[in-house]
Amino acid sequence: MDFADMKNKMLEEQIRGKGIKDEFVLAAMSKVPRHRFVEESLQEQAYNDYPLPIFGGQTISQPYMVALMTECLQLKGGEKVLEVGTGSGYQAAILAEIADKVYSIERDPHLARAACELLNELNYVNVIIKVGDGTLGWREFAPFDGIIVTAGSPVVPQPLQEQLRDGGRLVVPVGSSSFQNLMCIERKGSKLKSQEVCGCTFVPLIGNHGWKQE
Ligand code: SAH
Repeated sequence: MDFADMKNKMLEEQIRGKGIKDEFVLAAMSKVPRHRFVEESLQEQAYNDYPLPIFGGQTISQPYMVALMTECLQLKGGEKVLEVGTGSGYQAAILAEIADKVYSIERDPHLARAACELLNELNYVNVIIKVGDGTLGWREFAPFDGIIVTAGSPVVPQPLQEQLRDGGRLVVPVGSSSFQNLMCIERKGSKLKSQEVCGCTFVPLIGNHGWKQE
């Protein structure tokens, strides 16, 4: 099986097969070469149904989780999206396939640089990455139509709630360091409507409005 076959199998069994229906998400998942986002020795496993380690003890999320979180944002094209936790850049690439502009923040400079180089190489010119504390959001470009946090937080970071556009959605895993609930929060005027999607386990979100230390 080559990578294209593995990608198709992943799409059928893990993404469509587990209930992801959003055509924008399905199209994006079918395009992005996930094996390019992991180290060479792990490429054969890139389309399997589990997360994989990346640099610095971090992880690239399981394909289904990437699809589910993206589906929660209900993007239709043309949006401005903020991602907190660039990691490998895979989730950013998925978002970039659908949205107009993706702003992504990563606290680890090594990961940020590697993701930036890879996304450039793969021609994702609509992703802008910066090194910093993503729990503070990115005021300069706010408000966002969608915000996705790909690390687990003890609380919903206040700045991210504030930087969400009316009608926009924020997806964030909230809970303890070992287990979180995936929350999907929608802004309706000054009100925030929140829904629990499922249980999940992410690496910790470390910052001012997240976990205070490693
Ligand atoms: N979305 C990534 C997975 C990221 S894993 C992908 O598709 O590969 C979570 C990432 O969040 C890690 O790289 C970690 O360094 C980063 N992170 C943790 N706390 C952060 C913070 N406050 N701001 C920005 N990035 C953070």
